[in-house]
Amino acid sequence: MAKILIYNNGTDRMETYYKGEQEAMPYNVNRTLTVNEFRGSSKSQILWTDKRTMQSWNNFRALYGAPIFVGFAFKRCWEGGHGILSQHYAGVAFDVGQNLNSQKRDYMRNLARASGYWRYIEPEVDTPRWVHFDDRWIASGYPLTQFRK
Ligand SMILES: [Zn+2]
Repeated sequence: MAKILIYNNGTDRMETYYKGEQEAMPYNVNRTLTVNEFRGSSKSQILWTDKRTMQSWNNFRALYGAPIFVGFAFKRCWEGGHGILSQHYAGVAFDVGQNLNSQKRDYMRNLARASGYWRYIEPEVDTPRWVHFDDRWIASGYPLTQFRK
């Protein structure tokens, strides 16, 4: 059983859920993202994300039209990641498609860019064996140092 904190962007309030590992994440539709998938390798008892990120997932998953393998999403800052400050620590990023060949990953990456559902998609040179997309906050939020690049 995981405790899941969801920032509801519409109401500006935090919501708390308790879900089993095989249950769908809060706000997920059609069980396309389970708690276990969102957790990835994280050992954390508490997970967090925001409602907007879950809705972006729903929209992108519907557009893609097939199951998406999720290698990693949530991470605590001591659990690794591909940056000193990563959007994975904010619970708004996904590393997916580790099971695809490079052509299919290119297709997913391009679809993610074209969809407009994600704020940032890592270029292939930085993510050769997976696809990273996230719903980072632009004007404010965490972590601001990401925007100094
Ligand atoms: Zn990533």
